[in-house]
Amino acid sequence: MPDRYAVVGNPVAHSKSPLIHAEFARQTGEPVEYGRVLAPLDAFAATIERFRAEGGKGANVTLPFKEEAFRLATRLSDRARRAEAVNTLRFDADAIFGDNTDGVGLVNDLVRNLGVKLAGARILLVGAGGAARGVTPSLLEAKPASLTVANRTVPRAEELARAFGAPLVARSFAALAGEQFDVIVNATSASLAGEAPALPAGLYALGATAYDMMYGKGETPFLASARAQGAARLADGLGMLVEQAAESFFIWRGVRPDTAPVLALLRSLA
Ligand code: NAP
Repeated sequence: MPDRYAVVGNPVAHSKSPLIHAEFARQTGEPVEYGRVLAPLDAFAATIERFRAEGGKGANVTLPFKEEAFRLATRLSDRARRAEAVNTLRFDADAIFGDNTDGVGLVNDLVRNLGVKLAGARILLVGAGGAARGVTPSLLEAKPASLTVANRTVPRAEELARAFGAPLVARSFAALAGEQFDVIVNATSASLAGEAPALPAGLYALGATAYDMMYGKGETPFLASARAQGAARLADGLGMLVEQAAESFFIWRGVRPDTAPVLALLRSLA
């Protein structure tokens, strides 16, 4: 019998995680079966308990439950504790271990797959929701020259900067005018509404990278705007999705899958 895992969220029907983990299982020969579980908005904990009672070994957690998963975990990794958000649960005999692999996923995609230098870079993180919070510890670990968080609702960015402290600083979109960045990461869900965050012009330094955590068919509004602004390199979040999944797989199985063929497969299907 294969070990059972699932992505738990609401909605989950669109999730590519089952395909990614099926490919990882095939590639590594690990006996893993990975499905989707739709949790009612008011019953995340009960859904996880049921899945665990039915023999589930672990789960990925997606929107809107990452903070609830953080509270449900009885043991946490340092990065999950700092992010106060969990996207990976592992059901151990004596504990529910919670981790957050979004930050490693983003950094691995930027550094390993795309060859972007984060050490010494001026990084702008746009958005202050769960995704921004989740990747902040890993971005800080990458030793950038500066890390600035900007959000439409400014107090949320200020709260994030307070939680992490220097060198993270908070700005309103308007207050960014006149600054330049080497890497700009869009961690907002603005693309879902067909919009780009209303950033001032002129933020992209020479050779800068624009990275949108969103992915989908065609160029996102954020990447289209970055292209028009002269960003040298553009990438969507599909690589992050595959990299964060690989880190979850490693947490569950102790085996690190090769992400390149899986990312190529997803790109061929897009
Ligand atoms: P969230 O907690 O709901 O936060 C949404 C963020 O987007 C907030 O900062 C919000 O600003 C901002 N926002 C929404 N609409 C906007 C607009 N029109 N203009 C400017 N800002 C806007 O969501 P999340 O969990 O952080 O997720 C954010 C995105 O990251 C989602 O699209 C998600 O799919 C993506 N993501 C991708 C991966 C991956 O593996 N590729 C992993 C995690 C997340 P306010 O505070 O002002 O409302």
